[in-house]
Parts: sequence; C-alpha cells; structure tokens
Amino acid sequence: MEQKTVRGRFAPSPSGRMHLGNIWSGLLAWLSARSAGGEMVLRLEDLDPDRCTRAWCDQVMRDLEWLGLTWDNEPVYQSERTEVYAQAFHALEEQGLIYPCYCTRAERLAASAPHRSDGQTIYDGRCSQLTEGEREVLSQTRRPAWRVKVGQESITFCDLLHGKYKEDLKTDCGDFILRRSDGVYAYQLAVVVDDAAMGVNQVVRGSDLLSSTPRQIYLQRLLGLPEPEYGHVPLLLSADGRRLAKRDRDQELGELQSRYTAPELLGRLAHRAGLIPEPAPITAQELIPLFSWEKLPREDLKMEKF
Ligand code: GLU
Repeated sequence: MEQKTVRGRFAPSPSGRMHLGNIWSGLLAWLSARSAGGEMVLRLEDLDPDRCTRAWCDQVMRDLEWLGLTWDNEPVYQSERTEVYAQAFHALEEQGLIYPCYCTRAERLAASAPHRSDGQTIYDGRCSQLTEGEREVLSQTRRPAWRVKVGQESITFCDLLHGKYKEDLKTDCGDFILRRSDGVYAYQLAVVVDDAAMGVNQVVRGSDLLSSTPRQIYLQRLLGLPEPEYGHVPLLLSADGRRLAKRDRDQELGELQSRYTAPELLGRLAHRAGLIPEPAPITAQELIPLFSWEKLPREDLKMEKF
C-alpha cells in the first residue's frame, strides 16, 4: 500500500517572541514530520488584530530559522483568509447550526456549568432558545457572538501520545463560539479550515490543546474535511508548576539567545524529550534520526532550571 507523505505544521500566534514552550512543541512537531520524511508548513495565526503584528510574524520566522526549523512552501497568514473562514461559517449557517449569542462575558460565565479541569466553561445553550422578537430587541444594544450547536454525539480520536481520547460535546463543552462579537472568526474554525486547505495530515502541538481537538473534529465532519492525526506533547512548566507563558521573560528566545547557541538550546530540549542521553549541543538536522514517539515523556515537565 502506498504510504501518504506526512505533512505537519507550525502554527505560532505571533503576539510576541517565541518562548521555551512553543520552541519545544515546534521542535517536536518538526522532528515528527521530518523523521517520517515528511513536509512542514508554516501558518501564522495572526487572527487577532489587537495582539498580532507583521513585525512579530517576521520575528517568529527569524526565530525558526535561527533554530534550524525549516518549512516548505510560502507561509500562510490567517489575517489574509477572512473570506475563506466566512465561506465555512456560511456553510454551517446553511445547515441551521449557527445562532447568535448575546451573553456578555459575565452572563456567559453565569450561563455555564462548572468549569472543567482545564478551566474551560460549558455553555448551557440559553441563547439558542431566544425567539426572533427577543433577538431583535437584544440586537439593538448588543452585537452578538456566533455559536455552533453541538449534538449528543461523542467524539473519539487516537492521540499519538495519549492514545484514545473521548469527549461528549454536549456535556463536556456545549455550543461553542465560531465568531466573536467584533467579527473575528474564532481559532477553532480557522484552524480546521486552514489545516485542510494546507493539506496538513499531522497536527503536533501542546497538550493544552488536547481538549480542543474534539471540537475541531466535529467541525471537520460538518464541513466534510479530512481528519489529520493528532499528537499532543507534554507542556513545559515553570519550577512552581505553572505553564510557561510569554510573561516568563527569561524563557523568551531573545533572552535564551544571550545564554545559548541554537545547538546548545536544542540539545537541552532534546535531552528533556528523552532523545539524547546528555544535554549536549546538537543541531535540528542531527536530531531527525533520533526522534521517536516512544521516547517522549507523557507527563508535563517542570523546568527546575534552564
Ligand atoms: N496558535 C496556537 C498557539 O500558538 C496553536 C494552535 C494549534 O497548534 O492548533 O498556541
């Protein structure tokens, strides 16, 4: 049987410098695709005009180049693809699955069942019950966000690292937002449309996005798009157990570059990933034959010092 070429992707949000956490997941995504002889494409997730700039997009590309993490084809900018997201949104509208939600943030929280363990709220669907008249009144003072209805079905997929993962959308998530009240299309919609348009068949990213995957698979099914394979890699945590974020300045690539060469940085990460026995300098290319999913840790990693 002919084997399909793996096509992975980088999907950074260019709202600042790369930091250790996204270098880690980017490296593993790249190694997974390259070690399978596959391709890697780059998508700049610059949908949010308040947070993302072209200057940060350029910086992310320079950072990936510095690390030796190459990509194929021209980069794709989400900010240029609003039309394509609008088409997908309308296709779902035509299926009768979209409704306006007038809840303010405070009301949304009140309208939600208790948080899940990952902090996400479960919307109870109250705005789907509004009459046309009620909608008309509300729309005089508020601009709605737009939600997609979810059904009773459960979504199951097999993660490359975590194995079988299952979610019942109705009880674990609820109807979710596809378009914000300011008109910006939501990440969940854009990512599904773009992964398909870019021919991505392998998605490797941080395990903070594991619980987004059932929603994305749900949208793929509604839109008739292929389902990529998924691998959610453990997160790097700070010494006190928090997820590394952009505010951890000492973990930002600009700061890391003053302490390490690219091979030194990669060597330390590859060691944490279980790919090399010592944290010795190594290039991205040299790591390709050493990668395997079996070697990767399953649990999030605390970075005592880096
Ligand atoms: N843009 C997201 C981030 O930087 C990643 C989205 C994804 O991999 O699906 O966290």
